[in-house]
Amino acid sequence: MRIIEPHIHCYSRTTDDYEKMTLAGIEAVIEPAFWLGGPRTSVGTFVDYFEHLLGFERQRAASYGIAHFSTLSVNPKEANTRPVADQVVELLPQFLKRDGVVGLGEVGFDRITSDEDDILRKQLRIAKELNCPVVIHSPHQHKKIGTERLLTIINEEKLDHNLVDLDHCTEETMPMFARYPRMWRGLTVYPITKLSVERAANIVQQYGVDHLLVNSSADWGVSDPLSVPRVVRELERRGVARDQIEQLVFRNPLEFYSQSPKFTFKG
Ligand SMILES: [Zn+2]
Repeated sequence: MRIIEPHIHCYSRTTDDYEKMTLAGIEAVIEPAFWLGGPRTSVGTFVDYFEHLLGFERQRAASYGIAHFSTLSVNPKEANTRPVADQVVELLPQFLKRDGVVGLGEVGFDRITSDEDDILRKQLRIAKELNCPVVIHSPHQHKKIGTERLLTIINEEKLDHNLVDLDHCTEETMPMFARYPRMWRGLTVYPITKLSVERAANIVQQYGVDHLLVNSSADWGVSDPLSVPRVVRELERRGVARDQIEQLVFRNPLEFYSQSPKFTFKG
């Protein structure tokens, strides 16, 4: 099965992971910018991190035959670190125009603070101006309230729903998208804190694969870069049609990110 992994933090993964991913059929990855595990002291650390993603990480992926793309942003957790967050927002337009950058993200809510709200809106306005895909992180705590607020903000900022991937959806939040059929919903299969393979497969079977993405969000934590291939295996075991599975793990991410002219991976 051909797979595009739409959300993984390769920065924190090993070369062994790249090898396993390529053996499991992953041909392309999208890496959203995230928290590096400790507080940052200056805007320069973001500049170095973005350059790392666009240079060394792309090469590292390419050496395993994997096409690597990024989405860049101030992540929700670090939106609370001001004025650094504002300084990064100022730099974003120039970084979003660089080769290999296929959208803005991940942005959204962590603790749902007013600083997070403010930095989120500023970044969404940049994405709207550039008409690029956006990866939105829904909070792990207060998931339902956070998702409701994110949906309100997406509508208030008048984003094109087809350019939005609202990620880390659960059984609790999936029904909230009934009114927004063009918005993309992300399922994250991540041990302990997010969905298991079985829960993700249940959601896929209940809601169908239209405008649905599945990812590992693998990072520094206990996580699994093979989450997406494991979902494929589970859906095959349950007898889901191959064409549906291929739409979920390959054609959907291809369609979503092909909205960026810089997503040069062609199926
Ligand atoms: Zn992430």
